Amino acid sequence: MERTTNFNAGPAALPLEVLQKAQKEFIDFNESGMSVMELSHRSKEYEAVHQKAKSLLIELMGIPAEDYDILFLQGGASLQFSMLPMNFLTPEKTAHFVMTGAWSEKALAETKLFGNTSVTATSEADNYSFIPEVDLSDVKDGAYLHITSNNTIFGTQWQEFPNSPIPLVADMSSDILSRKIDVSKFDVIYGGAQKNLGPSGVTVVIMKKTWLQSENANVPKILKYSTHVKADSLYNTPPTFAIYMLSLVLEWLKENGGVDAVEQRNEQKAQVLYSCIDESNGFYKGHARKDSRSRMNVTFTLRDDELTKTFVQEAKAAKMIGLGGHRSVGGCRASIYNAVSLEDCEKLAAFMKKFQQENE
Ligand code: PMP
Repeated sequence: MERTTNFNAGPAALPLEVLQKAQKEFIDFNESGMSVMELSHRSKEYEAVHQKAKSLLIELMGIPAEDYDILFLQGGASLQFSMLPMNFLTPEKTAHFVMTGAWSEKALAETKLFGNTSVTATSEADNYSFIPEVDLSDVKDGAYLHITSNNTIFGTQWQEFPNSPIPLVADMSSDILSRKIDVSKFDVIYGGAQKNLGPSGVTVVIMKKTWLQSENANVPKILKYSTHVKADSLYNTPPTFAIYMLSLVLEWLKENGGVDAVEQRNEQKAQVLYSCIDESNGFYKGHARKDSRSRMNVTFTLRDDELTKTFVQEAKAAKMIGLGGHRSVGGCRASIYNAVSLEDCEKLAAFMKKFQQENE
């Protein structure tokens, strides 16, 4: 069977080895005579999966485990947009936002329902084509500063994170574990698993223990971070299969050299596609400003909608899918998360060059 080359933005490509391992274990997990999906979330077999996922995440991301809690929640990154202000915004403080795209807008809109917000910096006027400079003196005394580390739709990515004087909160849905980061700069890192970490259904939240102490009291129990911390993400039934898949993806990442190696591969992969754009004499136009380019989502436009449609159709015929851009940018987007290989990107670049020759 020939696998389709998957450039979907999320849910996205998973490593073939991971899918094969899950297939092998599917109906009999660890000689339990059951699928992992059929195990009780209170069983010792499942407990081992849960702890493995956590410890691999700590190891691979270099999380200072004594200072941070790791949670596996549901509701996607979207629920975090609400849980964060519900738990950590107080009437006397302001939540500050750096606006870098549609997902920052959604996070801001939810936060407004709970309290005071302020936009510290934005690139909205330029259709979010770059990561704006942040004047940190503006955020003194705020409740927290929220950023989106990688902008899935616009194809921009923070290259360096600010040294925020107030708690720094990052939506890392689309670049978590794709590069080395200094976790200690952040009070909260969150992201849905369905791009770099596994299938949809589980959201990873990494939260500084000291910050948890300032949690608001009057929040429904299931929406409180402390509830999930106390119960080690087993307050209610967790998405056991998604967490199992997450543990397999983390194991795969470790076997393939960890974050250092994947960061290098991701840089090479992005380079292959950006070179193709830059050397196309304007046939392909990159959306992101060069200094803000994402190594996860490569966005570009073509001459017109008709040519874009033909590009996407012909790519699909060549077994490459997921290349249509989001309507707010138009054009095309290649999402090249950890499980997309260098060869996949080279195949796309070769297709792009051929398509240009045929349609210039
Ligand atoms: N933030 C970012 C940066 C995203 O890319 C997405 C999903 N594409 C979300 C948040 C929303 O995530 P979810 O669907 O898990 O709620």
